[in-house]
Amino acid sequence: MLSLDEIRKRLKEYDGIPVSFMEVCGTHTGEIARNGIVSMLSPKIRLVSGPGCPVCVTVASYIDRLLKLSCRERTCVVSFGDLFRVKGSRLCLNDIRGRGGRAEMVYAPENIISLAEKEPETEFIFAAVGFETTAAVYADLMERLIAFKIRNIKLLTALKVMPPAIQWVCENGSGIDGFIAPGNVSVVTGSEIYRPLSEQFGIPFAVAGFSGEELLIAVYSLLKSVGKPKVINDYPYAVTEEGNRMAQKKIAAYFEPCAAAWRGLGMIADSGLKLKREYACFDAGSESLCEDAQYNPSCRCAEVLVGKISPTQCPLFGTVCQPQNPQGACMVSTEGSCHNWFVNRRKR
Ligand code: SF4
Repeated sequence: MLSLDEIRKRLKEYDGIPVSFMEVCGTHTGEIARNGIVSMLSPKIRLVSGPGCPVCVTVASYIDRLLKLSCRERTCVVSFGDLFRVKGSRLCLNDIRGRGGRAEMVYAPENIISLAEKEPETEFIFAAVGFETTAAVYADLMERLIAFKIRNIKLLTALKVMPPAIQWVCENGSGIDGFIAPGNVSVVTGSEIYRPLSEQFGIPFAVAGFSGEELLIAVYSLLKSVGKPKVINDYPYAVTEEGNRMAQKKIAAYFEPCAAAWRGLGMIADSGLKLKREYACFDAGSESLCEDAQYNPSCRCAEVLVGKISPTQCPLFGTVCQPQNPQGACMVSTEGSCHNWFVNRRKR
C-alpha cells in the first residue's frame, strides 16, 4: 500500500491520458474546494461536480408549489435552511414571508412535530428534499406520525435516488472516466449499488469519505482503474457492500420509486421516491413536477450540474450571481458547485 505522500506525488506528476472524474455528492464538492484538491492534481486530471446537491437539483416548479401552499389559509411550509433561498420562477421562501405566506425553518424533524403539536389547527407541509440518506430521516418521521397519530403534518416530496442520475450522466456523453461515489448515500445503499452501472459503462466507482486525504485516495483509486469496471470502497469503516438494511427497509415501507424532475437533467424514470398510495393522507400533492421556469434565464445551472461547463463559464458568476444574491440554485447551498467555486477561488 502506498503512503499518502506517494499518492500525492503520483497525482501531481501524472502525465498519462487526460481523465475526468465526477463527484456526485454536494458534501464532496464542498470538501474538494475547501481542501484545494484540484490544485494538488496534475492538469491532466480533471474533477467535475455532478448532480449531487439535493437543493441544486430541485426544480423551480417545486419551489413555486411550496410558495403557493405557504399562502394557503392555516398552512405553514416547513423546510431545512438551504431551500429558503432557492428561487422558483419569481420568488423564494424567504421572500414569501413578507407577502402573506408562512414558512418556518427547522433543523430536525422533531422541530416540525413540536410546531404541529402547538398548533393542531394548522397544516404543516414539510418540504421533503434529499437523497437516500435523507429519505431514511423522512421514513423515520413517517413512522412517528403514524405511531403518535399526528395528522396535521404532510410531506411535499422531491426525494431522489442517485443511480438513475449517474446513468443519465453516463448516457449523455459527458466523457466521465470514473465517479467518486457519495460516502453518505452509500452508508444507506451499500457500495454494491454501483456495480451494475460500473459494468454497463466499463468505468470505476470509488466510494469516498469526506476528508481531503480520503478524497485524494479515491481519486488515486479511480486513476489506477480507468477503463475497468470496478467498485472500490475507500470508506470501509462506514460503508459496507450491502448498506444499512434497516434504513433500506424503512424507506421501502413508506416510499416507492417514481419518475422525478431534476434541474438540468429533466425527467428521469424511477429516480425519485414518493409516498406509497396507502399513505396518501400524508401527501401534500407531490405529483410529478417538471422544470418549467427559471428565475434568471441566463443562469447556466443546468450545464454546471452535469459537468458540461465550470461555474466560471456562466456569464453571471461572481458578478450578478454571488452567495449573497444567488441567481440559481448552484449558488445557494454551501454544497452547490457555484457557491464552492466562489468561496474557494483562491484555493483553486
Ligand atoms: Fe446559475 Fe449563478 Fe451558477 Fe450562473 S453562477 S450557473 S447563475 S448559480
